Amino acid sequence: MADPGDELVFAPLGGVGEIGMNLSIYGLGNARRRSWLAIDLGVSFASEEHLPGVDLILPDIRFLLEERRNLVGLVLTHGHEDHFGAILDLWPQLQVPIYTTPFTAALFAAKRLSEPGAPDIPVNVVPLDSRFNVGPFDIELVTVTHSIPESNALIIRTPHGAVLHTGDWKLDPTPVIGSPTDEAKLKRLGEEGCIALMGDSTNAVREGRSPSEADVAKTLAELIKTARGRVAVTTFASSVSRLRSVAIAARAADREVIVVGRAMERVVQVARETGYLDGVQDFRGMDVFGYLPPDKVVALCTGSQGEPRAALARIAENQHPEIVLSPGDRVIFSSRTIPGNEKEVGRVINGLINQGVEVITDRTHLVHVSGHPRKAELEDMLRWVRPRIVVPVHGEALHLSEHAKLARDVGVPKVITCRNGDLIRLAPDPGKIDELPSGRVFKDGNILVSSDSRTVGERRRLSFAGYVSVALALTEKGALSADPDVELVGIPEVSPGGEPMADIAYDAVVQTFESLPKAKRRDPDTVAEAVRRSVRGAIRAHWGKKPVCFVHVLEVR
Ligand SMILES: [Zn+2]
Ligand SMILES: [Zn+2]
Repeated sequence: MADPGDELVFAPLGGVGEIGMNLSIYGLGNARRRSWLAIDLGVSFASEEHLPGVDLILPDIRFLLEERRNLVGLVLTHGHEDHFGAILDLWPQLQVPIYTTPFTAALFAAKRLSEPGAPDIPVNVVPLDSRFNVGPFDIELVTVTHSIPESNALIIRTPHGAVLHTGDWKLDPTPVIGSPTDEAKLKRLGEEGCIALMGDSTNAVREGRSPSEADVAKTLAELIKTARGRVAVTTFASSVSRLRSVAIAARAADREVIVVGRAMERVVQVARETGYLDGVQDFRGMDVFGYLPPDKVVALCTGSQGEPRAALARIAENQHPEIVLSPGDRVIFSSRTIPGNEKEVGRVINGLINQGVEVITDRTHLVHVSGHPRKAELEDMLRWVRPRIVVPVHGEALHLSEHAKLARDVGVPKVITCRNGDLIRLAPDPGKIDELPSGRVFKDGNILVSSDSRTVGERRRLSFAGYVSVALALTEKGALSADPDVELVGIPEVSPGGEPMADIAYDAVVQTFESLPKAKRRDPDTVAEAVRRSVRGAIRAHWGKKPVCFVHVLEVR
């Protein structure tokens, strides 16, 4: 039994109010001391426009670092980047034991080996469907279908009762690989009693049920069979069921499968090792692409999100060293465009069409299904598990509120909506009790910087409005000892009136300096500030934009 005063708490430190960067923690104990269990440690991807130079966004783990001695383990539900992508960068500070199933562990190992200098990180591999203890938490894995092999929901049993952390899931009776979602186990949990469900909200706005992977496989088979020229299929590399469907379709059409792109090669290797491509023919390397007749190849390519360095973007620009497409060839986007990537994907599609290539997307054909539950699937889950509390997670505000509404409509007694950092007591007496430090950290090159650090904002300003550098040399008496040096970077050369912008800036510098009272000219800070203001103002008067301006005042003796 629970000690008096002890409680079970939950807090999302990432993944709520956003899709990405998942990190949830569960705590057992009381406000003075709790044992913490972490679930997932993922990243978000930055869009170049908003965060120039930032590759990844990671959760701020200040709180876990403070509580490091009480952190008993990290369980990974599955191997998507939004669930395990931050481990390489953050684990060295945490040094916490990791638990996950074989495919996720193998994918993680392959990823670690592909990054030079990555730390050696031990992983405890647990079987699918297994039950194990992590500190005071009794954890049981529940197999669920998703868009990657081995997605797991977690039943977490505690002295206060059992909770269900769904992870990413959907219902698919014919998932191509792996077992369907373990309905029987979820119903047993409902019988046993479930105090709370923390659930995937990604597709809570969508009516009905998602189609099956098997339906997608049928469409792909048809599209590959009827193609006359070369076929290239792009999909998320980790979608092994999709890779398998393409391979089966290719064999039926008497075509070889060629793997293009490092991320794809890595997943194929891991899937072979872990048995998810058993019975599938060997794939060929890129080198044979040019030798095979067009109607004998299917290329499996990375780059479905328009990533400029991935295989498909280079093919679309006719820049790929091995893979060249011609008019009449067919490219299938077996993927969905993640919001924010529309421009990049559009650029790739247009590049292909300009080469005379036929492009097929999920707008016209069932060539992709999401890995997340729609409304009818969410309702099934809630009816099976019958939780007393639902906490919507894994979604933006709209998805969370739709999930909350659906849970209320189904008759869940208590729905708790939260934000990253909210500490929620699940038992006894459920409700929000505190706020934990949380936030985002940027990976900028090899360095992690706080999201409120100046650097990224400065870079954004520079990219928007350019830069003026001014150097002034002053004598001891406060006179200019030489002509000021003024340089403009990223600013239009000529004003609308035809005057060089450099002259405008130069005149502003000289006039401002000369208008300063003699006494003030001797103070370098006063001079610098006055010049900076006037240069920015003068340029704005002509251009309509204020540049970043640095003024260096040197005293010459
Ligand atoms: Zn996922
Ligand atoms: Zn996810």
